[in-house]
Amino acid sequence: MQNIYDLTLNELEEYFVSIDEKPFRASQVYEGLYKKRFNNFEKMTNISKELREKLSKEFSLYKIKILIKQTGDNVNKYLFELEDGSKIESVLMFHNYGISICISSQVGCNMACAFCESGRLKKVRNLLAYEMVEQLLLIEEDINKRITHVVIMGIGEPFDNYENVMKFIKIINSNKGINIGSRHITVSTCGLIPEIRRFAKEDGQVNLAISLHAPNNEIRNKLMKINKVYRVEDLIEEVKDYIKKTNRRVTFEYILLEGINDSEKEARELVDLLKGINCYVNLIPYNETDNIGFKRTKEWKILKFYDILKSNNISTTIRKEFGGKVSAACGQLRANN
Ligand code: SF4
Repeated sequence: MQNIYDLTLNELEEYFVSIDEKPFRASQVYEGLYKKRFNNFEKMTNISKELREKLSKEFSLYKIKILIKQTGDNVNKYLFELEDGSKIESVLMFHNYGISICISSQVGCNMACAFCESGRLKKVRNLLAYEMVEQLLLIEEDINKRITHVVIMGIGEPFDNYENVMKFIKIINSNKGINIGSRHITVSTCGLIPEIRRFAKEDGQVNLAISLHAPNNEIRNKLMKINKVYRVEDLIEEVKDYIKKTNRRVTFEYILLEGINDSEKEARELVDLLKGINCYVNLIPYNETDNIGFKRTKEWKILKFYDILKSNNISTTIRKEFGGKVSAACGQLRANN
């Protein structure tokens, strides 16, 4: 049975036309699902009883469930169980500018980045759009507040599940539904060049983040397997092209790892690499885990790295720390379970 949260507004309109109903029924159902948050079709009294019964027979809803919730300072972490028993996780963060959620897009991940807990668990399958939508809806229900920002940066490589991720974005962006503005949505990729090119053609102002983590091929090859396919210089050229086509600013994510990519030399190399690109750099202090040997860069070294970038006019932030104490680094909760 298809899940109703897997349908964009257009698809739902097409469905109603196919059963000889008016297309505006789709907006009525969307209102019930996303504005009123009904958890069954029976409550949608703005459509006829016959239609409610038909929808109940043809569509399912709320098929994933929260298995474990952990809370820390301004952060909640959720382990979900999917219909087939697979486990994924999402992280919720309370900021002074709003509430953001980091969504998983795959069960496991094939990209095998050396520093990543999620990458230790091979990809089992892609998530369907409804499994991403339900992560968001269930967490909003849990906290009884509206999420303002969505980042697709949890378990999985979003561009390795391109169609479903784009569908998810369309669904949460719809002004008849959850209505999260496209500028408040960010997709992160480890650097799949063909999909970056494809993403440049998408409508809207959804943000793109690139997991860079190294200023050269030598270091990046050690950290990210994908660099053997798409090398740093090609990735940067593609990002420049993306910015030219879309006029959108790109974020580069850079996890600082003690003795690996965090020296002054690497900071200067990064400056040279990114000079003149309309971008932000997000420096991420590493959360050490029991399973992976990397060490966290010392505070003074993080600040030094930051200063070098800033003094060379590269917009840079150091990511505020949330999840360490509740194992909220990507993949940790699931790995521990
Ligand atoms: S960092 Fe992202 S792309 Fe790399 S292994 Fe982890 S989940 Fe996959």
